[in-house]
Amino acid sequence: MKTYKASLKKYYKHGMAKHLESAKQCYYCGCEATDTDFCPPLEHAELVLEFDEQADFITVPACYECYALLHNERVLSLALRVKKLKTKLSAKYAKALKVYYMWHESELDEMSPEFAHSISAGMRLGQEAAQRVEFQPFLLESDNPEIDRPSVNQTFVVANREFTSFDTALTHCIESYGLNKSKFYDLLVKDCEGDFDKALSQYEHRYSKPQTLDVAKAKIQSFSKRYKQNSDFVARATEQLMKRDAKLDIDEALAKLYQDYIAR
Ligand SMILES: [Zn+2]
Repeated sequence: MKTYKASLKKYYKHGMAKHLESAKQCYYCGCEATDTDFCPPLEHAELVLEFDEQADFITVPACYECYALLHNERVLSLALRVKKLKTKLSAKYAKALKVYYMWHESELDEMSPEFAHSISAGMRLGQEAAQRVEFQPFLLESDNPEIDRPSVNQTFVVANREFTSFDTALTHCIESYGLNKSKFYDLLVKDCEGDFDKALSQYEHRYSKPQTLDVAKAKIQSFSKRYKQNSDFVARATEQLMKRDAKLDIDEALAKLYQDYIAR
């Protein structure tokens, strides 16, 4: 079986860096290359060939980590392997990336030495991970000139405005919309795959409603106190009134409650 697998290698072109400066780099992340990634993985080559599936059939230099992250992935094109790697790398270093984007060097001075030390270690790891995630695959030279260089999306759009780095787009969102940085970051990275507009709309959906509810709660409390009413009664009654007449907001519902049930 092993020899058979090895014999499949002849179907692959050898993708090599076209320019000397990239000669020893991992195609996926730019680190030092120590391994070779097969696209598609050798394990799957036989069936890919048998069923004549679309695949790139090329090898590229890879670092140990990218090789380990990818070699079991049945992803058949180089462009999709790049995408897959970036996703897996981002997930693996999610914590460090968050530290890197959340904190700035200037803030370290205000922390206790132990905390500053751990944050700064996290920031370094996160910075390295961010560079690897943003690394653009280099041009390849192989016996197939048709291979295009897959590009990694490097513009970030926020409400029709384009940003060239993730960091500036993130800062823009936090400052312009007054968001909680940590909450927004989690939403953006974990639920919205880096789509800023999607994250903004979900943020509004997720975090604005409770605020409205808090405001309503506070109004009910102060109304109850002012008119010496049981606050559970006031909450239920306003809820009923608003259900009966969808046009009523909390202030109008409380006014109606007062007028029709309390003041008479
Ligand atoms: Zn790598």
